[in-house]
Amino acid sequence: MRTFDPHTLVRPNILALQPYSSARSEFKDSAEVFLDANESPYPTAHNRYPDPLQLALKQRISTRKGIAPDHIFLGNGSDEAIDLLLRIFCRPGLDTICTTPPTYGMYAVAAGIQDVRVVTAPLTPDFQLDVPATLAAAQQAKLTFLCSPNNPTGNLLARDALLALITQTPGIVVLDEAYIDFADAGSSLLPLLHQHPNLVILQTLSKAWGLAGLRLGMAFASSAIIALMNKVKPPYNIGSHTQQLVLTATTDTHTLQAHIAECLQERTRVVTALQQLPIVQVVHPSAANFVLVAFHQHTTVFQRLLAAGIVVRDRSLQPNCTACLRISIGTPAENDILLRTLQHLNHSIG
Ligand SMILES: *Cc1c(COP(=O)(O)O)cnc(C)c1O
Repeated sequence: MRTFDPHTLVRPNILALQPYSSARSEFKDSAEVFLDANESPYPTAHNRYPDPLQLALKQRISTRKGIAPDHIFLGNGSDEAIDLLLRIFCRPGLDTICTTPPTYGMYAVAAGIQDVRVVTAPLTPDFQLDVPATLAAAQQAKLTFLCSPNNPTGNLLARDALLALITQTPGIVVLDEAYIDFADAGSSLLPLLHQHPNLVILQTLSKAWGLAGLRLGMAFASSAIIALMNKVKPPYNIGSHTQQLVLTATTDTHTLQAHIAECLQERTRVVTALQQLPIVQVVHPSAANFVLVAFHQHTTVFQRLLAAGIVVRDRSLQPNCTACLRISIGTPAENDILLRTLQHLNHSIG
């Protein structure tokens, strides 16, 4: 295993930072009278500050994922983890990150907020990594963001290409696995986490778990990187209600598995039906809960769908996504409405 010390990449002010020490992080033992945090003593179910390190929740996630709690960070969505990593490692006006468009827009937005330059190494026309070009672009980058299955294209990035980048990039590789629960078992790189000290893996409860409204994102990394994230995060970044709800929601893995199975079945049905429509140019292969589809007259298709009350995402301005709309897989009834509307449209503009 390579030697890699994340502290050599950290902004000096973050290294020197004396973190805020909250009442609840200073006192962890049991007590009966809490007069240390200026809380209200009257029970509203949420009058006490939440556990700043969410240990009960991390224990649950640790058991499910086989990753020790000190290798887990929980955030207010994965977006919080993306923002924290940018602020820990990238000096405004000086440092760069690397992205591989077409990909998730938040990497560049979080970089823009921090005044960090983005160098890009576009994916190939079949949406795979161009390893030499990405390695070249990543040489100066503090962070390289890779997304697999990728949003908006839906495909997994080839495992050997991911591993080549992780092992050869001098900086940190952030692998966003937001859609990994929809991909074939064994697709995640999480089992390899401990072999790669410069790897951060992001997952989320917002997609397959159906908890986007709660905002719970996970980052898995070396304990050194997790400690830096804990140092910089707002002390109480996950509310007590969210911690409780997620603990309850994650006991039921049956429903999760059933929803994933139905989504995959529906994806196959939607893809097959789309491929039969003359207005459809290409349906890109997907390992996620959405498909990227190139249409003839995509603007008309987008507007007619909207007029019929169906919202999809126009991704046609992203590189190599000309005329593409990104369509989430819905319930069977919602997918029926989508397909029926497109079939009608096909007659009127086809
Ligand atoms: C939806 C999505 C996320 C999830 O973000 P949250 O803040 O956890 O809701 C992360 N990455 C990608 C690529 C996504 O599409």
